[in-house]
Amino acid sequence: MLRKLYLMNINRLLLVCSLLLAGCVSTESDEDLREVTILYTNDEHGWMEGMKSGQSAASLFDVWEKKEGYSPDGPFLILSGGDNWTGPAISTWTQGKSMIEVMNAMQYDASAVGNHEFDFGLDVFKARAEEADFPYLSANTRWRRNGETPTDIGILPYSITMVNDLRIGIIGLTTRETPIATHPAHVRDLEFIALERAVRQTLPEVEAAGTDLVVIIAHVCVDPLTQLIRATADLNIALMGAGHCNELIAENIEDTVLLGGGYHYEAYAKATFTVNKETKEIVKRKFSTQENRFDTENAGISALIARWASQTQALLAEPLAYSNRALGRYSKALQQLIIDSWLLADPTADVAITNAGGIRIDLPKGPIDLGTIVALMPFDNSILALELDAQSIRTALDSGHEPVVAGLEKRRGQWVFTNNGEPLDESRSYRVLVNSFMYAGGDGYWPLSKGDPDAFDTGINYRQPFQDWLEAQGSSEQNPLRL
Ligand SMILES: [Zn+2]
Repeated sequence: MLRKLYLMNINRLLLVCSLLLAGCVSTESDEDLREVTILYTNDEHGWMEGMKSGQSAASLFDVWEKKEGYSPDGPFLILSGGDNWTGPAISTWTQGKSMIEVMNAMQYDASAVGNHEFDFGLDVFKARAEEADFPYLSANTRWRRNGETPTDIGILPYSITMVNDLRIGIIGLTTRETPIATHPAHVRDLEFIALERAVRQTLPEVEAAGTDLVVIIAHVCVDPLTQLIRATADLNIALMGAGHCNELIAENIEDTVLLGGGYHYEAYAKATFTVNKETKEIVKRKFSTQENRFDTENAGISALIARWASQTQALLAEPLAYSNRALGRYSKALQQLIIDSWLLADPTADVAITNAGGIRIDLPKGPIDLGTIVALMPFDNSILALELDAQSIRTALDSGHEPVVAGLEKRRGQWVFTNNGEPLDESRSYRVLVNSFMYAGGDGYWPLSKGDPDAFDTGINYRQPFQDWLEAQGSSEQNPLRL
């Protein structure tokens, strides 16, 4: 944290001295000016390898070093708006551990707590926070039982760091949607209080520490964050960084810079402030968004990612099940096993629907490992829970290409419940599980958002229930799956 030196200050003094020797007089205020550049990402979601080539964390860090002039002792602050993990296998199967190592190597100074930071439960979050060389910040996350910040699991309301002789206060915020945007059971002991209230409660303590500049990193979408900027215009917050909605943005609103760094390391946002150290006045602010497109990678971070990639491959090769029979990709038997596993995983659901196109290979005869399951269902689609009426369910089922359905089946042209042959009740709604691809209208499905605009994203990958079911069978070569 204290690695930032006062290089800029020394450079300025040298400049002033040389100007004086030359007989010039420099203005006193120049000596008081300090600059800090904030490099900002959010919603990284474990994409350390990049979604496209040239967009890895290693190439981003190379951009920062070579194009932004970043050095650990330079006038820089590297911040994240949260949702660091939950995405590709390389981060999800290490429960975020690999991502912490990468973010440590990238010298992050702080991250907001995103809803997905809770995906593996509070104990895992605590372990990750302990491994991180940077603090996880959220001023509005509190224990429900006493209203206190959960510092005991590694969440701090704010941190203070010195950069280029400037004392900078960083306050974190977390989306109030968190209880429905991660596994609800994981955060049932936490509450997420109103953003403005949390900022107004926290700021006096931050300012009492003698800060020259206060910034907020928020796992909060741009719209509500803009409202917060307007509501707190009296508080002199230099910057608010967004997260959660993957937005790429750099704007000035009421003299607060609003940044959003996009997502998945495709881009970043930056802001440079020139501050008068004596008056604490911001005399200049610059801000922009930048693409992460670079042909070279930082060697150290690249090697770190390669090591995690090979460990992930080893994880993929761990046997899960054994089958003495192959099931075809388009077979009813395989499709039904997969979709039935969704209802087994969520017995409160009435119906589950996935698209046949999301099942990509035959289930082979012989050993089945995680790699097989990922190849079978390779997409990063999550399971959404919807409340749909009977008509919406029928419209959805009849609109899409080859729906794979559990709970209902078609008999004599009518959708009826598989267990009792009863038709859908027109007077009530049902809990229906679908995948996020279909919900967005993929594969020609009737846009399910019309039936339920407030779908609950379980955050569970669409392959996970089938993987869990296969593992639970405890099969082996001697005791193969009964398919
Ligand atoms: Zn989020």
